[in-house]
Amino acid sequence: MLDKNQISRYPFLKEAKERVRGMNLTLDDMLSPENTIIQERALSRIEEAVDGKDIQPETRGVGEVETDLLSYPVARFIVASVGDKHLIKWFSHHEGERAKFFLHREDMDTVKDIGRELGLPENEGPADMKAKEGKKRFPDVKRSLHRERSGSETGTIWISFTDFLVSRKNISGPDWNLVNQKLVGGLVGVERKSYIRLIQERAKEKVEEGLDGHPPIPNNIRLKEMITSLKLKVEGRRKKYSPTELGKMTITRLPPCMRQILGMSQAGENIPHHARFALVTFLNAVGMSSEEIFKIFTTAPDFKEDIVRYQVEHITGGSSATSYHAPSCDTMKSGGVCFNPDGLCGKEWLNTPLYYYKIKGKKRSTSQENAS
Ligand code: SF4
Repeated sequence: MLDKNQISRYPFLKEAKERVRGMNLTLDDMLSPENTIIQERALSRIEEAVDGKDIQPETRGVGEVETDLLSYPVARFIVASVGDKHLIKWFSHHEGERAKFFLHREDMDTVKDIGRELGLPENEGPADMKAKEGKKRFPDVKRSLHRERSGSETGTIWISFTDFLVSRKNISGPDWNLVNQKLVGGLVGVERKSYIRLIQERAKEKVEEGLDGHPPIPNNIRLKEMITSLKLKVEGRRKKYSPTELGKMTITRLPPCMRQILGMSQAGENIPHHARFALVTFLNAVGMSSEEIFKIFTTAPDFKEDIVRYQVEHITGGSSATSYHAPSCDTMKSGGVCFNPDGLCGKEWLNTPLYYYKIKGKKRSTSQENAS
């Protein structure tokens, strides 16, 4: 069972919702002038998400635990009322980051309890199963197997293969490839840090649930003010970075994989690392400047200006001696980012997305010449 501090840190859990319900406060109560402090906290919760601020340790005074807890449903209502898909992504990402930040400070039992509620229950590990089996058939095998038990003794948490796959679908990087996992009989063994990362993804999804519902907005002046100020802030972030032009790149010539990755970026989705790398190298090769490429990533929920700028500059050679080549189709396929290949992709000589772009350019100029 979680204490009240913990409950306020994971406000998307059932226990937190029940606690809020137990306070017998309606949304109107929380939006009333007596509860300005809850509204302020809710607003800053959302603004921190829009600004991509880092999660900070709590510095709460007496009574602020309840304020924090209550600010969550109010923040959700405001986000849903603003009805902006980027804001929803930024908010859920930020709440997921917050959960991860605090989970790293919890004991293992608490982490597992929260993991269980979010659909990542721990399973009996292979060593436990063997021990049970061995106890039945070879009673003396128990002691040696005990030394290699799974679970809290060794720090490995065994989760089902399906739960692993579902939770890691938006996480990229070689550490998450199946070939690099401990796979035993339908189970995947993960260490504490990875388990928390998977829980973070589940928490993010939980937060996002129902936020696109466009609820009817009550006639509350304070609420309307907050919605207006947030709309301006969201627009401000988009305008600050929005690409005004896509340089020398011609959209109609883009291969399907690059269109998909660009579309993900425009929809405010996090782009897997290797897809991001592929897009940056590709756009660099077709003549876009680092600044133009940088702007494409500014709506991503995990956007941090200095990090993205550094990554783009590094890949394009702006801040390093090396500029990287755009990956081949084979590399894109093995990385799982060869999206929606079309007829041209099916040609056996089509070996890179760049070549696709060149061929499309030739086809265009040939048809233009024929037309003139
Ligand atoms: S085959 Fe190559 S160009 Fe076509 S979608 Fe896949 S990676 Fe992109």
